[in-house]
Formats: sequence, structure tokens, C-alpha cells
Amino acid sequence: MRDETMDRSDLRGDCGNCFGLCCVALPFARSADFAIDKDAGKPCPNLGEDHRCGIHTRLRQKGFTGCTVYDCFGAGQKVSQVTFGGRDWRTAPRDHARRMMDVFPVVRHLHELLWYLTEAVALPAARPIRPELRRALERTGELTRGTPEQLAALDVPAHREDVNALLLRTSELARAACPAAGRNTGVPT
Ligand code: SF4
Repeated sequence: MRDETMDRSDLRGDCGNCFGLCCVALPFARSADFAIDKDAGKPCPNLGEDHRCGIHTRLRQKGFTGCTVYDCFGAGQKVSQVTFGGRDWRTAPRDHARRMMDVFPVVRHLHELLWYLTEAVALPAARPIRPELRRALERTGELTRGTPEQLAALDVPAHREDVNALLLRTSELARAACPAAGRNTGVPT
């Protein structure tokens, strides 16, 4: 049982407040997960003018299983509504659209870290390092609220490395506290 709970509503994709960024920014290759090749920054042909997927209810049948398991951890609505203030890429100048697509993967990485840190902070076994986890959580949250320029210039691998070190320590603590070795702790190892 966790000794505290945290609101994760901002760490789940809210497609209704996103301009279909994952369907544009990310590349994919024809495979068991995707029926076609698509370059990064190019809109998927299934994406409608309303930023909705035209085959949403038939993704698996149409060969887009990869889309059914993808999660942006809430980065889509953050970039759409916060970083770029609700201005969509279709009606914005080309440079604005390009910057949106550059920034989306950065924020997606940060939001994934926020998810893991939120999980780690709530673990009872993490109590000895909870202050450090909270600082990492706050710092990562601050980074997600940066300007497009700040986000584009961010050294994501360096920040991720710092956070990963903390998550590994959390995992060790959780495993030590868990009577069944190897049991899933909810924190990546
Ligand atoms: S198939 Fe639909 S969900 Fe998948 S990338 Fe294309 S528009 Fe997005």
C-alpha cells in the first residue's frame, strides 16, 4: 500500500486537447506495428483536419497496432496548450509547426520521467530518498514548462541520466523491502 497518492491526470494523454502531435512528429516504419513508412514531422495520412485519427476504432485491423499501445504521458496536451498556447500547427506559420514537432519528443521524454518519479515518490520503501525524488520531480516539471527555445536546447540525455540514477536507487530500496525478490515494483530497472 502506498503512503501517499499523487494526481496523475496530467500524465495521461488527452487527445481532445492535443493537435495530433504524435501522429505528425514521430516517425514509424512499415512493420508488424505500422502499415506504412512515415517520416518524422510528416502528418500521418490517417490524421484528419480536425486532428483526430480517421481509423481510431479500426487501428488494429488496419495494421496500426503500434498506435494502440503508444502513450505520450500527457506531453501532447502540454505542448499544444501550454508550450505553444493553443496555436495549432496547421494554421500557424511553418516555423511554428516545425518547432512544435521538435519540442514534442523532448516533452514526451520529460513527461515519461515525471510518471516514473511520481510512482517512485509514492513508494513507501523510497522514504530515505524521497526528498531527492521530490526535487527531481519538481525540477523535471519546471523543465516541461520552459519556452520552445529552452526545451529545444535541453540536454535530455543528461537530465535522464540524473533521474535514472535516482530511479535505480528507488528500485534497489523497493526490492530490498520486498519479500519476494524480483517482484514488480512499478519502477523501471
Ligand atoms: S493511424 Fe491514427 S493514431 Fe496512428 S499515427 Fe495515424 S492518425 Fe495517428
